[in-house]
Amino acid sequence: MTTTKEPGPTAATAAGIEAVAEVARRLLPADGVISDHARLRTYECDGLAHYRVTPALVVMPEDTAQLAAVVRACAEHRVPYVARGSGTGLSGGALPHAEGVLVVTSRMRSITQMRPEDQRAVVDPGVINLDVTRAATPHGYYYAPDPSSQQICSIGGNVAENSGGAHCLKYGFTTNHVVGADFVTSDGDVVALGGDAPDTPGYDLLGAVVGSEGTLGVVTSTTVRLTRLPEEVRTILVGFATTDQAGAATSAIISAGIVPAAIEMMDALAIEAAEAATHCGYPEGAGAVLVIELDGASGEVEAEYAEVERFCAENGAFEQRLATDPTDRALIWKGRKSAFAAVGRISPDYIVQDGVIPRTALPEVLSAIAELSASSGVRVANVFHAGDGNLHPLVLFDDAVEGAGEAAEEVSGAILDLCIQHGGSITGEHGVGMDKAKYMPRMYTDEDLDTMQMVRCAFDPQNISNPGKVFPTPRLCGEVPGRHKGAHPLQDAGLAEVF
Ligand SMILES: Cc1cc2nc3c(=O)[nH]c(=O)nc-3n(C[C@H](O)[C@H](O)[C@H](O)COP(=O)(O)OP(=O)(O)OC[C@H]3O[C@@H](n4cnc5c(N)ncnc54)[C@H](O)[C@@H]3O)c2cc1C
Repeated sequence: MTTTKEPGPTAATAAGIEAVAEVARRLLPADGVISDHARLRTYECDGLAHYRVTPALVVMPEDTAQLAAVVRACAEHRVPYVARGSGTGLSGGALPHAEGVLVVTSRMRSITQMRPEDQRAVVDPGVINLDVTRAATPHGYYYAPDPSSQQICSIGGNVAENSGGAHCLKYGFTTNHVVGADFVTSDGDVVALGGDAPDTPGYDLLGAVVGSEGTLGVVTSTTVRLTRLPEEVRTILVGFATTDQAGAATSAIISAGIVPAAIEMMDALAIEAAEAATHCGYPEGAGAVLVIELDGASGEVEAEYAEVERFCAENGAFEQRLATDPTDRALIWKGRKSAFAAVGRISPDYIVQDGVIPRTALPEVLSAIAELSASSGVRVANVFHAGDGNLHPLVLFDDAVEGAGEAAEEVSGAILDLCIQHGGSITGEHGVGMDKAKYMPRMYTDEDLDTMQMVRCAFDPQNISNPGKVFPTPRLCGEVPGRHKGAHPLQDAGLAEVF
């Protein structure tokens, strides 16, 4: 595996970092500024632990004013900074910069407003995802986006990654649930994006910031939408002989106009791992299982349940089990939610891949992954959000075997190529970060990447906000965009003119 070890700051940058540290020490409590090397090392990675870089400084502001002052000092001294929430990201997005400041939001954890009357909550960036639901539940509401890491990941991280989860099939990703945010620009100003009005004129700058992985600036106080708790929830576990059958049942359900809250699929290898770890009672001998959850008004759920049962049976389901009570429902979900960690039971090492494809391409892509696995000898377990085509292939290997890591990396990259070839994308929800920047040119043309860079430069002209992430080359804002000179292809095709 690749380990990124960067040298520490040079003398010139060390002076800038010391200047930022001075500002931070003046404004923040003493224990909110870390410059001791041994302690800095504890921040060297996020959830993708094979990239490690020790930051030059860690600051933990307690409010937006402190955070903005630190960013302003960074801008003044051209010191790079990286925002970090809980550090659970799986693409190295919150990997520190060796010559920069890691701005950690874990001390900004207040839910400042809970407004069931207009279904809104206002939360600090470090607030844990599940804590929003915990606070909203007594009022009859919850926060719908539910990454599997929801017990620990932060709302700021969710916004930066546009995170999704099992229930985003019906309710949409983070972007559908964030209506406003205070935003610290890369020169340290605080601006309000979006807001309480249903629509604001002008460009959707909040939309640009959601999913920008900390490369445009830092999100602080965030207004999120709350969703009414459903009257009824039904969870069904369905066993099939093959993933093709499970995929066909998924398509049949959705093309009939039923949008379950979640449809999750696991293949035989993933089932084996989950069973070994959690004894979740998944159907014996299944080549695939679906976990289908229906929610809403009782009458609607009742009617949808009958249809779902029928579609599963018609597509070869050999066992269907409706959860009888909350404990049974939790056990069904335990198998699915523990799948990543459970794979550790059947393989010493594994890569969690994340790609997305149109749902209709599922059977074809799954067969191609199986062929790839057979021809390379690298085992792949599939766990995924079947409803929205978001794949999480787990590529298994043993790092103690020479060349095994490289072979796994190759298969993992080839899976992303399959996603692109089938009209999908290199990430469904984990982001590009450090890890997938190299794949961006496989998906986008030079012109596409230049256009994105121009947006980035408009927000961050000094290139100090999480530099080195998302884009494959460290292009600077002063460079003329476009490696291809001359007319734009649309001009050549007679479809556009430049005035
Ligand atoms: C076991 C496990 C399961 C997971 N399951 C899912 C899943 O189901 N769905 C999913 O989408 N993800 C999942 N993830 C990935 C991860 O939890 C999400 O990406 C999450 O949103 C990251 O939140 P965080 O607070 O940990 O962010 P971090 O890892 O700290 O940061 C992630 C990115 O956001 C940026 N950032 C953080 N805070 C801010 C801020 N305030 N302003 C601007 N930028 C900021 C960082 O610079 C970085 O680029 C999983 C991770 C693990 C370890």
